Amino acid sequence: MVQTFTRALVAQLQQIAACNALHPVEQRMALWLLRLHDETEDDVLRVTQDAMAELLGVRRPTVTQVAAKLKDTGAIRSARRGVVEVDRGRLEATTCHCYQAISFRLSRILPREEAPRRPHRRDGAEHDGSHT
Ligand SMILES: [Zn+2]
Repeated sequence: MVQTFTRALVAQLQQIAACNALHPVEQRMALWLLRLHDETEDDVLRVTQDAMAELLGVRRPTVTQVAAKLKDTGAIRSARRGVVEVDRGRLEATTCHCYQAISFRLSRILPREEAPRRPHRRDGAEHDGSHT
């Protein structure tokens, strides 16, 4: 079990290291909000700007700027002190492919019930596993 957990952690860290190096802060913030949303029952996330700054490795004013951009696109519906309401579909449209890559890798490593909830794609790009 520890080995499985370690593999899952390493898979995430590898992807996130690449993401940090390659992708703009806006996409990375969308990714973290999606990851938090995976662990939450509704669209209201409890996360402070300080925590976001730490997760993203940027200064707090940068978080404020990027959050304002995401609000303009509707990916963030509202943000008050420590509470962010998100629009999952718009976050998915904003983030880089790393979110899907992490979800995919976790779903292969972790037993299904422990894997994060798979996003419900609205664009019809779902894999049904069949090859015709
Ligand atoms: Zn990325």
